[in-house]
Amino acid sequence: MAHKSGFVSIVGKPNVGKSTLMNQLMGEKLSIVTSKAQTTRHRVFGIWNDEDTQIIFSDTPGVIQKPAYELQEKMNDFVKESFEDADVILFITELGDEKNPSEYLIKKLSGAKVPVIVLLNKVDKSKEPQQISDSVEFWHAQLPEAEILPVSALHGLNTELVLPRIKELVPSAPPYYDKEQLTTLSERFFVNETIREKILLNYQKEIPYSVEVVTESFKVDDSLIRIESVIFVERNTQKGILVGHKGQKIQKVGTEARLDLEKFFDKRIYLNLFVKVKKDWRSNERDLKNFGYSH
Ligand code: GDP
Ligand code: MG
Repeated sequence: MAHKSGFVSIVGKPNVGKSTLMNQLMGEKLSIVTSKAQTTRHRVFGIWNDEDTQIIFSDTPGVIQKPAYELQEKMNDFVKESFEDADVILFITELGDEKNPSEYLIKKLSGAKVPVIVLLNKVDKSKEPQQISDSVEFWHAQLPEAEILPVSALHGLNTELVLPRIKELVPSAPPYYDKEQLTTLSERFFVNETIREKILLNYQKEIPYSVEVVTESFKVDDSLIRIESVIFVERNTQKGILVGHKGQKIQKVGTEARLDLEKFFDKRIYLNLFVKVKKDWRSNERDLKNFGYSH
């Protein structure tokens, strides 16, 4: 049988479970997950391989209806781009989304030239089967060509049906990447994202959204990995909040990130965090470029 390879873009509104789904399909935590919207800022690529198939998943930021600053515009650009290079589109929506659907996404999906699979996520939350069938009906009316599958990405319900279907849909092609490769992203990217996840989980209000993490050094020794990362915030007051009394809050972030990274890299980690102010970086074209938000 000829080898098949394809690009699969995972799109949807913020917080519907896109990253949870990709991690579930990959069997690895590649993309960070929190209960806050706009956790994912970049496209995160996961490469799934078996003997005769390679599927390159691209997790994307949620589509932001009305971008408020330049960073959000860039995040929407990553979503647009993900429509352009897909062989299959996985549209993730959650129960109740039909009450406030994204017109932008519906328009993009109706015009898609590749197969679209609608995954109606978080069905574990519903006690009424009627609610699920109403939602399926709604999406069927919006996207008559698409296949629709109710799932729970968190609990792995029906998700085992997704990969076999994608395997049928991707074209015959040689592998694009090494068959041992898990992602196209660098080790430093995972360090940055892990630290950012812990910040999202430990701070309130605007702090998580004002933070960017840059890993400046990643050195692998025989016995451990030494990592130095800088957390940039937009203002001095945010720096104070982030660091906390006697540095306790930032230490907590460091410990939680280190434990996850030790699991991910399967090695002891020495993690050193610095906090710096880069005024209004979210609106600064040059800073965004340096942080990897444009091409
Ligand atoms: P994303 O913004 O679309 O990438 O969404 P995330 O994957 O970050 O998930 C957002 C939130 O929804 C997290 O708190 C997840 O634990 C939760 N979540 C994701 N999938 C499910 C699901 O199937 N059921 C339930 N109950 N929660 C889920
Ligand atoms: Mg996400």
